Amino acid sequence: MNAAMEGVVKNMEDRCLICNRPRMSGGQLCRYHQQAYDRLMDAFISWRTALNVDWRGFLEEVLKLPEIGEWAREVAENLLKRAQ
Ligand SMILES: [Zn+2]
Repeated sequence: MNAAMEGVVKNMEDRCLICNRPRMSGGQLCRYHQQAYDRLMDAFISWRTALNVDWRGFLEEVLKLPEIGEWAREVAENLLKRAQ
């Protein structure tokens, strides 16, 4: 691989999986999407027993909520796509 290609690959590796912002160190998402992801995960942990849903079912439910924020919607859509 030549230096130019390495630069391109490296650049992609440093980007959020969802948008093109730089990733948080050690993560796959930028700080905004990481924050939204953490909140989704917290909600899943507290809802899963009450709703009796798995991760996918939870994401589908979340996407139906009108009050879901843009960041959380993008994260949920992305996770759902990758869970298929
Ligand atoms: Zn992002």
